[in-house]
Amino acid sequence: MSRWLVKRILRASGIHSRYRIPWNWKVGTRLYSKGSFKKTYRQEAFKVLIQEVYRNSKFYREHLEKYNLKNVRTPADLGDFFTYPAQLENHPEDFICQKPDIYFETSGSSGRPKKIGLTREDFLLLAFTTAHGLKKMGVKKNDLFLNAYSYGIWVPGLILQNALEMLGVPVVPVGHQKPEVIFEKIVDYRPTIVGILPSSLIVITKLAERYKKELPKIRWFQTGAQHIPSKTKEWIKTVWGANVVNGYGATEFGGTFAIECYEGKGYHFNDLLFWVEILNPDQDGYGELVVTTLAFRCMPLIRYRIGDITRFVNDRCDCPFRTAKIDYILGRKDDMFKAAGNNLYPGYFSKAVVEGVFLGVEIDTKEEIDRIKIRVTEGSKVDLKRLDTFILDTIEKDELIVETKFESPNSHTGRKIPEVIDLRSWD
Ligand SMILES: [Zn+2]
Repeated sequence: MSRWLVKRILRASGIHSRYRIPWNWKVGTRLYSKGSFKKTYRQEAFKVLIQEVYRNSKFYREHLEKYNLKNVRTPADLGDFFTYPAQLENHPEDFICQKPDIYFETSGSSGRPKKIGLTREDFLLLAFTTAHGLKKMGVKKNDLFLNAYSYGIWVPGLILQNALEMLGVPVVPVGHQKPEVIFEKIVDYRPTIVGILPSSLIVITKLAERYKKELPKIRWFQTGAQHIPSKTKEWIKTVWGANVVNGYGATEFGGTFAIECYEGKGYHFNDLLFWVEILNPDQDGYGELVVTTLAFRCMPLIRYRIGDITRFVNDRCDCPFRTAKIDYILGRKDDMFKAAGNNLYPGYFSKAVVEGVFLGVEIDTKEEIDRIKIRVTEGSKVDLKRLDTFILDTIEKDELIVETKFESPNSHTGRKIPEVIDLRSWD
């Protein structure tokens, strides 16, 4: 982490004056790489944050009144206090601590879109951390970045744009377009890095396979929002000679929240900006992801239950990111559904997708038996034998039918598609 960024983070979180470390760069890096620095930093940042939200936000004042905030050192000290997407959806203004300079919206994959305000500082901080991540990945000034993310109210396009400007990397701001248009721009401008949604990436790779002339030498594709199986990454690599680096994000956390480990061991998240908890973990460590945003000033979220199910990953890795990791998302808590007497998540079925993009599941019944259709993009390969044993057992016992359903990728909105479509009638 570079000096200006650490300084920036400390300043944005308002604790640089309180947290007395001898501030020169050598000491700074040494401290940063020490786990104890992170621990102290996070606790200090959290204490400051709690006081601040109590002072400035109507929502937090009402809800935190019963706590003696002097004794609150970690998010867990707040016991049963959490924030929920519905609260943010209904009264976003009550969360505001400082005047927003810019608004973004969530994709509204579950319910109405939520408004997220950021101060100029928040926005710059996100761009700075994105820039830092890109630098770690090896982005250089002589790269050309084709940005095919939406530049609208959906966060990633603008943040990426600003991050690249900070790095002095030239950009082709294509925005979210039909895959055919993106492909045309790629062969025309010959970028070295392309930011793109996985479903569009599949389509442009098919176009690339049929393309007669020489393809541009792309170093990697920066993707997000949907999981990409490793076989698909291999296929993309054979066609383009380029790697795929995937991110996991949420607008509530300012866009890209975590980036895929180069060794495929889950996602690295920024543990200086976010305090992550896993709520009610099961025997395998899977539980609900709960995130506290430590550095945002406009609409800080404390113990926000976004509803995704994951777990911590402690495996060591040698990739450029050195931060803590969470596993691939098993599904959303709201996406849990019952079929054949089991509590299931879409993530269980995504495991069967060998090639292509998993879009979700559709559930109906066939002759009284629950039927799950695994929705994938056209041309995907699905191998049901890769499903977990308990699902295979249920199929074996004729209690569940599992099929594959091919769909053309949603290429127009760039927004998330609901992962669970339940067509069963309950009356
Ligand atoms: Zn890693």
